[in-house]
Amino acid sequence: MDAPLSPGLYIVATPIGNLGDITLRAITTLRGVAAVACEDTRVTGKLLNHLGIKQRMIRYDDHASTETRDYLLALAAEQPLALVSDAGTPLISDPGYKLVRAAREAGIAVTSLPGPSAAIVGLTLSGLPSDRFLFAGFLPAKDKARGDALAALAAVPATLVFYETAPRLADCLAAISQHLPGREVAVARELTKRFEECRSGQPAELIAHYSAHPPKGEIVLMVGPPGEVDQAAVDVDALLQAELAHAKASQAAAAVAKATGLDRKVLYARALELK
Ligand code: SAM
Repeated sequence: MDAPLSPGLYIVATPIGNLGDITLRAITTLRGVAAVACEDTRVTGKLLNHLGIKQRMIRYDDHASTETRDYLLALAAEQPLALVSDAGTPLISDPGYKLVRAAREAGIAVTSLPGPSAAIVGLTLSGLPSDRFLFAGFLPAKDKARGDALAALAAVPATLVFYETAPRLADCLAAISQHLPGREVAVARELTKRFEECRSGQPAELIAHYSAHPPKGEIVLMVGPPGEVDQAAVDVDALLQAELAHAKASQAAAAVAKATGLDRKVLYARALELK
């Protein structure tokens, strides 16, 4: 018999594909709590069923009503309550932030049980520098907003980690090639599942590969840090021309210098030639 859990909120990470990745502590906690707050009762119901656990489930996401959140907080103040998401670590591009914040403010004990998260699995597989990384969640879907988001991250001295979907991968790779030119990119797909793969290279190589082999499933997309820029892979003229379409030569040179780390004066001279 497991020792009874004290009251509080238990954040429980669950598998991102391979059910064997559930931890022993996650199992005892899911068994020992009074209820499980989850995004989708069907998805969590399948996991609990697989583990042979019968448990009360309460649907919760960050758009839930204040009443639902208050109800969960009242429950967690008196009894142990688990929070799970459909897969992986709750709060990481998943619901939970508002509940955890409110629980802490209310003085309710919060415990986080570590386990799978696609961002970490992708990063560790990618071969990209892992000493510093910036997790940026999902990029915006619209071209302009996505370009702006990438430009804002261009100077960050770290590997960038994004969550992505298969239908948007080609557009994202094209945007990376434009806004973060010359950077090595890695696509980690279907992690911990049967068709797991991690493929790296320049965006153009990956676009060519995935147009011949349309990707399926879930994706973590990573971009190496600016120091790792492959200058030979940068099409400087194309970048300058894209900027010159809406900016003066000096501004175009400054923007391309920021994105590539190339010398601004050299770029300015080339921009004047192209104009
Ligand atoms: N909280 C989850 C975590 O910790 O990994 C992430 C939830 S987020 C809503 C879902 C996204 O995570 C997917 O669109 C995909 O980008 C990524 N993802 C989840 N499982 C994955 C897997 N098995 N392989 C690759 N990416 C995955």
